[in-house]
Amino acid sequence: MTDTTRGDVRLSGISKKYGSFQAVHPLDLTIPEGSFFALLGASGCGKTTTLRMIAGLEDPTTGTVRLGDQDVTALPPYKRPVNTVFQSYALFPHLDITENIAFGLRRRGIKSVKKQVDDMLELVQLGDHARKKPHQLSGGQQQRVAVARALINHPKVLLLDEPLGALDLKLRRQMQLELKRIQTEVGITFVHVTHDQEEAMTMADQVAVMNAGRVEQLGSPAELYENPQTTFVANFLGTSNLITAEVADSSGDSLVVKAGDAKLSLPAARTSAETRTGGKVLLGIRPEKISLVHADEAGTIAAGRNRITGRIAQSSFIGVSTQYVIDTPVCDAFEVYVQNIERDGRLTPGTEVVLHWNPEHSFGLDAAQD
Ligand code: ATP
Repeated sequence: MTDTTRGDVRLSGISKKYGSFQAVHPLDLTIPEGSFFALLGASGCGKTTTLRMIAGLEDPTTGTVRLGDQDVTALPPYKRPVNTVFQSYALFPHLDITENIAFGLRRRGIKSVKKQVDDMLELVQLGDHARKKPHQLSGGQQQRVAVARALINHPKVLLLDEPLGALDLKLRRQMQLELKRIQTEVGITFVHVTHDQEEAMTMADQVAVMNAGRVEQLGSPAELYENPQTTFVANFLGTSNLITAEVADSSGDSLVVKAGDAKLSLPAARTSAETRTGGKVLLGIRPEKISLVHADEAGTIAAGRNRITGRIAQSSFIGVSTQYVIDTPVCDAFEVYVQNIERDGRLTPGTEVVLHWNPEHSFGLDAAQD
C-alpha cells in the first residue's frame, strides 16, 4: 500500500456524470486529517458517488482527489491508503472473527498477525468472540468486525458507506458512540456517508450537507443547526419554523422585520439573505428555542424578546417534552417544544397564547429559495 505523510483529503473540482445525468456537480472539499467527517443528504444526492471517488471505485468525470501530499486520482483503489466499510459488512462467513480481521494482512503475505489482530479485537471490544463465526454475532458486532478488518491495514482514511443502515434504532445509537470512540482512539480521518441527520450530528466534527449533487453547506453540527444558510439545510437538520417577513430596518447589527402585526428582530450576522429595507426574508426559529405563555400572562415576558400571538391547535405529550402545534397569523402550524412540563400544566387546544424567544436564536434565510 502506498503511504502518504498525511491523512487529509482534498477534492478539487470533482464531478461525476453518468451519461447525461450529473450525479455530482463540480465540488471542492477539504477534509482535515484526523477528523470525523460526514457526507449527509437524502437518497440520490450524490454522497455515495463522492465517497466512491475518494475510494477509487468510481472515476471522476472532472477534478482531482488528493490524499495528503499525493494526487491519487489515477490510482486504483488498492493503491490508495484508504479502506471502505460498507453497510453489508461483507464478512467471510466461513472464517472466524480472528481470520476475518487478519485477512488483509495475510493477503499481503504477513505471517505473524496475532499481536495486530489482538489489538484490533481489543479496540472494537470483541476479545471474547475471537473464535466465533460472523453468523454467531449481532449486527452491531459484525459491523465492528468490518471496521477492525479495515483498520488493520492502517489506512490513512477510513470510508464508511451507511455502515449502520442495517441496524435497528437502539443499536444504531450505540454504534454511533462506538464508532466515534474508535475514531478518537485511532485518530485517523473517517469519512462517513449517511442520510440520518441525527447520526451525522452525533458523530461528526464537520458535516457537508449535500442536495442534488451539490454541497449546500459545510460546517460543524452546531453551526449547521444554529445558522443554516438555506431552507434545505434548515429543514433537513431538524424542524424549523419559518416566518416570511419584510425588512423594516437593516441599519444596525440586528435586522428589524415585520410579519403581520409583529415586529421581530434577528442578528444580521446570522442572515444569509438580501437585507435591503423593504426586501423579503425568512426568519427561522427552532421549536425548542420558543417559550409559551397564556395570553393573559403576556405582561410577564421580558423586554427585548421576539413575540407573536397564536392559538394552540394540537398538544402532544412525548415524554421529555410536550410538542405544541400553534396557529399564528404569520406561520401555519408553528411547532414549539416545551421541556419538562407537568402533564397538568399543559395548554389545551384553543388556548390563546403568546410565543416568545430571544432574537439571538433566530436566523434569516433568502425568501426567494424553494
Ligand atoms: P443513497 O443514499 O440512496 O445511496 P446517494 O446520495 O448515495 O444515495 P448516489 O448513490 O451517489 O446517491 O447516486 C447519485 C445519483 O446518481 C442517483 O440519482 C443515482 O441514481 C445515480 N447513479 C449512481 N450510480 C449510477 C450509475 N452507475 N449509473 C447511473 N446513475 C447512477
